[in-house]
Amino acid sequence: MDNPACTDILKVMEHDSDILIVGGGLNGPALALAAARAGLSSTVIDALPEPTRKNAAFDGRAYALALASVRLLRNLGLWERVAENAQPMLEIKVSDGRAGEGPSPFFLHFDHAEIEEGPMGHMLEDRFLRRALIEAMSGEPLIAQVSNDMVTAQEMGATGVSVTLASGKALAGRLLVGADGRGSGTAVRAGISRTGWGYGQTALVAAIEHALPHHGIAHQFFMPSGPLAILPLPGNVSSIVWSETDATAARFAALPDAEFMEVLRPRFGDFLGDIKLRGRRYTYPLSLTVANSFVALRLALIGDAAHGMHPIAGQGLNAGLRDVAALAQVITEAARRGEDIAAADVLGRYQQWRRFDTATLAMATDLTNRLFSNDNAFLRAARDLGMGALGQLPALRRGFIREAAGLTGELPALMKG
Ligand SMILES: Cc1cc2nc3c(=O)[nH]c(=O)nc-3n(C[C@H](O)[C@H](O)[C@H](O)COP(=O)(O)OP(=O)(O)OC[C@H]3O[C@@H](n4cnc5c(N)ncnc54)[C@H](O)[C@@H]3O)c2cc1C
Repeated sequence: MDNPACTDILKVMEHDSDILIVGGGLNGPALALAAARAGLSSTVIDALPEPTRKNAAFDGRAYALALASVRLLRNLGLWERVAENAQPMLEIKVSDGRAGEGPSPFFLHFDHAEIEEGPMGHMLEDRFLRRALIEAMSGEPLIAQVSNDMVTAQEMGATGVSVTLASGKALAGRLLVGADGRGSGTAVRAGISRTGWGYGQTALVAAIEHALPHHGIAHQFFMPSGPLAILPLPGNVSSIVWSETDATAARFAALPDAEFMEVLRPRFGDFLGDIKLRGRRYTYPLSLTVANSFVALRLALIGDAAHGMHPIAGQGLNAGLRDVAALAQVITEAARRGEDIAAADVLGRYQQWRRFDTATLAMATDLTNRLFSNDNAFLRAARDLGMGALGQLPALRRGFIREAAGLTGELPALMKG
């Protein structure tokens, strides 16, 4: 935890707030709200102007929020702000397939009725979640927001931290949290290295209207060049996350809407009747990136700043929200005991709780993508057999459902029912 930027000047500095959070995306605001519940103040800094982040067209993603994440949002008073726009996910169907051929006869079927807790998760569009987070922060006196200004430097001391913004403004706090996404500058400035690689794949994301109801069923078709997820939204609408090799995705992204729909149709299939595009299309390059440490002197990383993974299992944000709940819990407990919230042993407990779990999840998503994103005849037969066999084992199937619902492992208090 040595940090060359460590200085004693900060010993005498007044704190603007208990926690300085770099990144006002999704996980940064969630942490600020969780900390406020425990009486801890935060300043959330984001490089982008607030109107840009609140714009409905800012991000086209829709998130599969696991049941544990929904519980966190409920406990933070956020769920009531978004519930009417959320779609319960009642079943998940997973199959192997090729464009124009439809799914293979071997598939996995997960039904929420097999567990007693209810739907394994909800689908929610980014535009509703992001807006709810920003509005909830605005109504919370313990949270200050700085927008349209970038953190360019950070300094760590024995009793506090400080950051300098591009505007020249300086802010001081006790704990610095990096929630600044995959390329986390907070991690770089702290000397934290990363492990990862690009997938050579890009996700094409769009909302698709269809003639027939989806009945709350999510579909994952594994195709040779990458998976196509069809995820239910309220009404007769689904969000697609379609991963293709970079070159193919660039080609498809450049097509006019009507031609794009022509290439999508044979892959999507006709099980939902006629389909048409709703709104804009988006692209997201895919990579794996895990920070080699989630903590440093007076510093913790959360969300994509700590771990960015393939969206194949829809677990990136869920993992980030689990970081939020775990970090909020360890610092709250420290504050209640009258201890320093950024002490090495407090942050060490966060790292111990989250790092192994997330690294394992990131590697599992990596392996799944490798196993399924290819057309090798042997692997294809093996995974079809595997899916067929798994489908016959109720106990294992229930284990997968509980995993997808985020109910396994040591659950932080904010994620308990
Ligand atoms: C196609 C796709 C589909 C996905 N689907 C799912 C899903 O179904 N379920 C799921 O759980 N996850 C999903 N994910 C993952 C999820 O989108 C991410 O995990 C999540 O958005 C990460 O949020 P974050 O707040 O950690 O980071 P970001 O959203 O990246 O936010 C980082 C913020 O930091 C700010 N920032 C950066 N540097 C600075 C600086 N120096 N100073 C100030 N501000 C700065 C940026 O402006 C930005 O607002 C998906 C991802 C992709 C690509």
